[in-house]
Amino acid sequence: MTARIAEVLIPLALDQTYSYAVPAGLDLAAGDVVAVPLGPRSRIGVVWEMRPGSGGNLKPVEGRIDVPPMRPALRKLVDFVARYTLAPKGSALGLALRLPGDAPDVTRVGVRLAGPPPERMTPARHRVIEAAAGGLVHTKRDLAKLADVSTGVIDGLVDAGTLETLALTAAPVVEDPDPAFARPDLSPDQRAAAQTLAAAVATAAAERAGTAPPPPVILIDGVTGSGKTEVYFEAVAEALRLGRQALILMPEIALTSAFLERFAARFGVRPAAWHSAVGTRRRDRILTGVEAGSVKVVAGARSALFLPFRDLGLVVVDEEHEQAYKQEDGVCYHTRDMAIVRGRLEAAPVLLASATPSIETRVNVGWGRFRRVALPERFGGRSLPSITTIDMRRDPPSQGRFLSPLLLREVERTVAAGEQALLFLNRRGFAPLTLCRACGHRTSCPNCSAWLVEHRFRRALVCHHCGHTERVPEACVACGSVGSLVPCGPGVERIAEEVAQCLPEARRIVLSSDFPGGTERLRTELEAVAKGEADIVIGTQLVAKGHNFPGMTLVGVLDADIGLTSGDPRASERTFQLLQQVTGRAGRGAKPGRALVQTYQPEHPVIAALVSGEAERFYAEETAAREAAGLPPFGRLAALIVSGEDRAAAEAHGRALAQVSEPPPGVMVLGPAEAPLALIRSRYRFRLLVKAVREVNLQAYLRAWLARAGKPRGSVRVAVDIDPMSF
Ligand code: ADP
Ligand code: ZN
Ligand code: ZN
Repeated sequence: MTARIAEVLIPLALDQTYSYAVPAGLDLAAGDVVAVPLGPRSRIGVVWEMRPGSGGNLKPVEGRIDVPPMRPALRKLVDFVARYTLAPKGSALGLALRLPGDAPDVTRVGVRLAGPPPERMTPARHRVIEAAAGGLVHTKRDLAKLADVSTGVIDGLVDAGTLETLALTAAPVVEDPDPAFARPDLSPDQRAAAQTLAAAVATAAAERAGTAPPPPVILIDGVTGSGKTEVYFEAVAEALRLGRQALILMPEIALTSAFLERFAARFGVRPAAWHSAVGTRRRDRILTGVEAGSVKVVAGARSALFLPFRDLGLVVVDEEHEQAYKQEDGVCYHTRDMAIVRGRLEAAPVLLASATPSIETRVNVGWGRFRRVALPERFGGRSLPSITTIDMRRDPPSQGRFLSPLLLREVERTVAAGEQALLFLNRRGFAPLTLCRACGHRTSCPNCSAWLVEHRFRRALVCHHCGHTERVPEACVACGSVGSLVPCGPGVERIAEEVAQCLPEARRIVLSSDFPGGTERLRTELEAVAKGEADIVIGTQLVAKGHNFPGMTLVGVLDADIGLTSGDPRASERTFQLLQQVTGRAGRGAKPGRALVQTYQPEHPVIAALVSGEAERFYAEETAAREAAGLPPFGRLAALIVSGEDRAAAEAHGRALAQVSEPPPGVMVLGPAEAPLALIRSRYRFRLLVKAVREVNLQAYLRAWLARAGKPRGSVRVAVDIDPMSF
């Protein structure tokens, strides 16, 4: 029997494909994009599989959509993401299925004068003929606008033979990057690394057709400013020489035009940038170009991982340790891990670049699964910044202030020398807590178990978890006292105020994700800072990473202890990475840099390792601790978050889950316990943690368990997070 039944996957939270009959005359294959009826509506989906059968009693496919089919590698990636994260397969498809909008301007219809005037002439037609004189080609819409007529008039003239139509092909999205445009003089270390990377790209290209071993994953482990970017550009160049495409993944905010310009300086043109601020029209064009193979290099945020490359020859994950790569809601996937899967499916090597590689990646190098190239020194003989601590117990700031006198003096000196200083505090807003001096009441969010953070610029109290915003009240809501509310602790806005008081002449800027005007404005500001248009930058982790500020010679860390006290086992690693990144912002230009770190516990292992530069020892100890605790990557971990509007119902379902957990040997189920944030957006949250040894197929176990437990009732939901980032 011929294959007349199409199994169609629809990008909704559905785990199964639906079966449809294929009407006579329609020739379908797996990967085709189709319209199918679902309930009362028509939906777009992808044929996942064709199977034999007459399909007699099934609803028929409505038709094929005229877009390129989804390639097998991308379909396999969707299958993998769903299987790995336990997300519904349709949700995973939603990440990858992108249809160009209804105005793709890749080909458009143009018109030009071609024949004699029409028999029936009208004033409108006359205006069109005048406007089209000279034989220029116009789009229909432009010509209609020029002549001030409706497009119907144009159509009439086409029918009459006065105008002819022709297909217009828009200019390419980007010109081809030229691998030979400006080859850098690499240092010996850099050259050795670049050769290794380029060889991996070439080998993978040569073997892509065969049954060769999977292409390698290579860690580029190099201190900040060592030239990692310069080196992976050489791998990109090799992919270009071989005619293959390359994808450079970056944390969203690192995709500044400074980066794109740097690419252009090496390759002659900018790469196609793919991130949330790219307009839909441009997205459509990039999408079509990526699909056709005409867009060679994409630099993108995490969603670029799912673009439909025709022949992907290289994937780079820049700043691979970045937590922003983990998608925390919807389909919970880690971009780095899924990039490795994509590389395998496409026979493309994957390069992971970082000055502070994650423990997972380091361990994978140790196990021989990843390779490693090292760039141990800053380029051009520049030294890493010297790092010293300021013991806040001995050198405290004056009353109500947060900068120690020592740090303040250094900032002053830096600015006087015409250099830039960064004051780093990983806290948005003005003050993290508003306290009533009269009764001790702490203002907290009505929807979440979290304090409201004062944002003075916006004159509001804001919840950082749900966005709840209220005006700063005149009187305490608990005791009614007027004027008794006091801000406690600093956020970046408060530091800016202090800087304004102490150094009123200095040009200062606060950079955090609250920046008015959103990501796009923020990118512009980051570039302005890089050009030296500010003396003092006061910023959160947003400025800590990946940026190159050549004039910055001083970094002051205001509260190195934030994050060290949380109960999260990853806290030390994360704090260490963040402090290394932020201190690494200093001295990337011609002048050497230094970092001053304010802390109340200079003897803490994280701070001590940072100051002494003994990163390897720190990592060795952290890794040993992870191994002893059986935590990833030595063991497997998953979190089930049970949430609901009704606390008791959520907790009850958590208990019911625990009761049928039936963990096999090597698996341990903990909880349910209140989640670290027990209430978010008016939903109460309970958490079960599942720990397993590596040999266990965690996904299979979880799937069977969730099936046993049955669907939760009412508003209760269960979300699965494989390898949660905080636990
Ligand atoms: P990383 O990515 O490791 O932080 P970058 O690639 O950003 O390092 O390099 C740091 C700085 O040094 C950049 O300004 C870069 O242009 C410069 N640089 C690195 N290698 C070279 C080289 N071989 N020739 C010229 N400049 C280089
Ligand atoms: Zn009060
Ligand atoms: Zn809230």
